[in-house]
Amino acid sequence: MQTKYRLIFATSNLGKRKEVEQMLQSDRLEILSLVDLGLNLDDVKEDGETFWDNAKIKMYAIAKKTDFSYLVLADDSGLEIDALNKKPGVHSSRYLGEDTSYEEKNQSILKQLAAVTGENRSARFLCEMALFIPQEDKIFRGSGVLEGRIANYAQGENGFGYDPIFYLEKKKKTLAQLSASEKNQFSHRKQALQKVKEELEVRKML
Ligand code: IMP
Repeated sequence: MQTKYRLIFATSNLGKRKEVEQMLQSDRLEILSLVDLGLNLDDVKEDGETFWDNAKIKMYAIAKKTDFSYLVLADDSGLEIDALNKKPGVHSSRYLGEDTSYEEKNQSILKQLAAVTGENRSARFLCEMALFIPQEDKIFRGSGVLEGRIANYAQGENGFGYDPIFYLEKKKKTLAQLSASEKNQFSHRKQALQKVKEELEVRKML
């Protein structure tokens, strides 16, 4: 019988979990999220200076809580806007306060960029994934970047967060105007996850 590996994905976000399950589906791998294990990251301070730091902080916290016995995957992502000195960056979810809606965050960004035109509205979504491989006591990194620019106004109903103001020149649409499956074909998270997938495949864990 082949070995079955257990991977814990350090998220409580059901959307992300579904994405990871779809991409890493295999008879060899059992994927569990924090909800399945009754764990959470409430006591973990995501105070890293980079997305990579925060991904490692989350990964380490869950690896420790599970006695470094299982594969652990954690991610961190966010939006960098060049004209705002790369803000909101690692503070993407907390930008302008935890209780501020994304509609308000997005409207505020559009207002701050009112005098900024064309290529100077450049922005990118970044995603870093940290994979702990206990068999090798090794941490593997998967990164993804999605370049675009801040739209002149919010458009689209799909997706979440900053999607309505993130414009893709190639598609002539904002991310919120794309279907989930279309976005997931090339998103920053998909790119990072692809690298994680390759790393698991090499080790015949998938
Ligand atoms: P986290 O990776 O769950 O910590 O998410 C960080 C934050 O970055 C989210 O709450 C959103 O504000 C933003 N973000 C990350 N990825 C996306 C995306 O694909 N679309 C829109 N916003 C995103």
